[in-house]
Amino acid sequence: MNYDVIIVGAGPGGIFSAYELVNGNKDLKIAVFELGNPLEKRKCPIDGKKVKSCIKCPICAIMSGFGGAGAFSDGKYNITNQFGGTLYEYIGKTQAIELMRYVDKINLKYGGEGTKLYSTANTSIKKKCFENDLHLLDAQVRHLGTDMNYVVLENIYNELKDKVDFYFRTEITSVKMTDGGFEVISGDKAYSCKNCIISVGRSGSKWMETVCKEMNIPTKSNRVDIGVRVELPAEVFSHLTDELYESKIVYRTKQFEDLVRTFCMNPHGVVVNENTNGIVTVNGHSYEDPKLHTDNTNFALLVSKHFSEPFKDSNGYGESIARLSNMLGGGVIVQRFGDLIRGRRSNEHRIAESYVVPTLAATPGDLSLVIPKRILDGIIEMIYALDKIAPGTANDDTLLYGVEVKFYNMEVELDENLETKQKGLFVIGDGSGVTHSLSHASASGVYVARHILEEI
Ligand SMILES: Cc1cc2nc3c(=O)[nH]c(=O)nc-3n(C[C@H](O)[C@H](O)[C@H](O)COP(=O)(O)OP(=O)(O)OC[C@H]3O[C@@H](n4cnc5c(N)ncnc54)[C@H](O)[C@@H]3O)c2cc1C
Repeated sequence: MNYDVIIVGAGPGGIFSAYELVNGNKDLKIAVFELGNPLEKRKCPIDGKKVKSCIKCPICAIMSGFGGAGAFSDGKYNITNQFGGTLYEYIGKTQAIELMRYVDKINLKYGGEGTKLYSTANTSIKKKCFENDLHLLDAQVRHLGTDMNYVVLENIYNELKDKVDFYFRTEITSVKMTDGGFEVISGDKAYSCKNCIISVGRSGSKWMETVCKEMNIPTKSNRVDIGVRVELPAEVFSHLTDELYESKIVYRTKQFEDLVRTFCMNPHGVVVNENTNGIVTVNGHSYEDPKLHTDNTNFALLVSKHFSEPFKDSNGYGESIARLSNMLGGGVIVQRFGDLIRGRRSNEHRIAESYVVPTLAATPGDLSLVIPKRILDGIIEMIYALDKIAPGTANDDTLLYGVEVKFYNMEVELDENLETKQKGLFVIGDGSGVTHSLSHASASGVYVARHILEEI
């Protein structure tokens, strides 16, 4: 089959590329290849009863399929250049924000209308943070919620399905250059195109590395974020989450001057497993529908590590720590903060007696046997710092799940059009190492689509 544009990966990056291309030129022949399932067939087997924890399916329904890693996410679209990626370094700060606002408009058009846009502008919380040596980053955040995010994806798919050829459960195994374009190969089938957009996210990071090696595209190692997911009664953070929903707060530790930051805050949410290439880590999300709310709020506390010489594999370092937790706990480990401070493991009995009821069935254990001392010390310091603006954070019953690891893809060398040195081959979204959020990944998709439309 011959296409004008082939998109590999149907996450937010790929979807927004397809959307913009279709709307910019209805005569284009576009195909999207996705190794996972269509949205309605994506089903994680964990039901909390028969299947309590991750069974490592060959294709993870949480990470793969239409909607990508974002499909069952909390649907928090942060409109900011302060976190979520470095797209602005390629396309400029103003354009990056404009594109994130455009993505927001599309999300509202396809079902997100009525959801709330939160903002850090004019908040007194910023001052309170400063007073306690904490730093609140500026952002607007649209919270679609896991339920509404699903509806938006469903509606966008219905809009696109007759205009784009979608190939689900089709893993692209290689991309080769041809005269005037590319050949995209899946098993024994080959498809050709003039322009190819690769948007394979974090789950496609290893494959992306192979493509770059084969095509002689330079890459740079990226950082890895390691930490824990904190779960506590929603009341403890309600003054922040009611006003801001998500607050990204950064703290510089006194002991090592490392930066620890809050990440992915889910008021009244649930803690979940995440499977990246067979390694089980922890994440969280929450629903827009109040009927699905829990009594708890969860968020991550993360520390970044970036290795360059002689060891370059930051992700490998993060993976090893996650593997260790999987080895000791059979998956994710949960520990009460009070147990961690007293140097003892949590066990079933102590967790059962805790006033905070865990929303994820994780194995009670000891995170100090898994997380390197320097990182764990930083997290403990941050918990005490947060306790000053949200008293109760450092309570004994606060639950810590580990490990949470944010893997970043290596940075692919791209020009200002997000194009590789192989003309016509674009790399967008989290797979490029440039973005690591729904809004930035989606915006990068729109940006490249507009560039291709201009070129055509
Ligand atoms: C549980 C969870 C919650 C999250 N919550 C938020 C949030 O609230 N806000 C936020 O900003 N971000 C959140 N994120 C991160 C966000 O989902 C990602 O930043 C975003 O999805 C990146 O989009 P993408 O299109 O670049 O990649 P992805 O969404 O990862 O999509 C890539 C797609 O490519 C497919 N693919 C990979 N390799 C191949 C191949 N060889 N052939 C064919 N297809 C392939 C994958 O199956 C996948 O569907 C969350 C992530 C998770 C896992």
